[in-house]
Amino acid sequence: MQEITKGVYFIPGQDEFIPDSHVYLVGMPSSQDLSIVDAGLIGKGGYKIQSIRKLGIKLSDIKRIIMTHTHLDHIGCLKEIREQIPHAELWIHEEEAFSIEQGDERGVYGMEMFRSMCQSQYGLKAGDFKFNVDRKLKEKETLKIGGMTWEVLHIPGHSAGSIGLYARDQKVLIPGDVVYADYAIGRFDLYGADGSVLKKSLLRLAELEVEILLPGHNRVVKGVKAGYIRDTAKQWAPYLR
Ligand SMILES: [Zn+2]
Ligand SMILES: [Zn+2]
Repeated sequence: MQEITKGVYFIPGQDEFIPDSHVYLVGMPSSQDLSIVDAGLIGKGGYKIQSIRKLGIKLSDIKRIIMTHTHLDHIGCLKEIREQIPHAELWIHEEEAFSIEQGDERGVYGMEMFRSMCQSQYGLKAGDFKFNVDRKLKEKETLKIGGMTWEVLHIPGHSAGSIGLYARDQKVLIPGDVVYADYAIGRFDLYGADGSVLKKSLLRLAELEVEILLPGHNRVVKGVKAGYIRDTAKQWAPYLR
């Protein structure tokens, strides 16, 4: 666990043959109103909770879990984390929240082949990712939580209900799997994905002033150079149609 900037902590994912998403803990510790962003892969909840404890943060101060989207590598260990913090609310963009509440797991697995592979690998069954969603997030909502202000940006294309969380004051962007470090972007071949829509989302993110980029996987970037997201979108434009 690493403090990225005031009020933003980073718990790196531990990839296996399937990636495990990073977790970000956001909110000023003194606020006693912290949020976990994303959970991770099946079996990866325990060490993330431990990392939070090691930092001296009380689990009772964690008030909610916000999902950037509901792919298996992000929602897989949600149940494990919620067992440790049962009082925490679950916030998901409305576009994916309804599927999660109905137990429609097409968006969790992304493709049929992956579903059968993961179900046998991890002993999962239908309905394992059915949750009640406490708050269905909407485009352009402003979340005043933990002594910080986070804007909710609906940035579909990698998945239908992907969101970015943007702290304008700190110039911090948590884009989920939409854009990564090193000119990489999220895949756009899974259920609910769309390359041309992803391009629009990237161009939208390109409008933001971003100094700290905190993606769902791989490196985090401090000191993002101006135009980085725009350049990334440009490089991928021929494939995003
Ligand atoms: Zn994803
Ligand atoms: Zn991911």
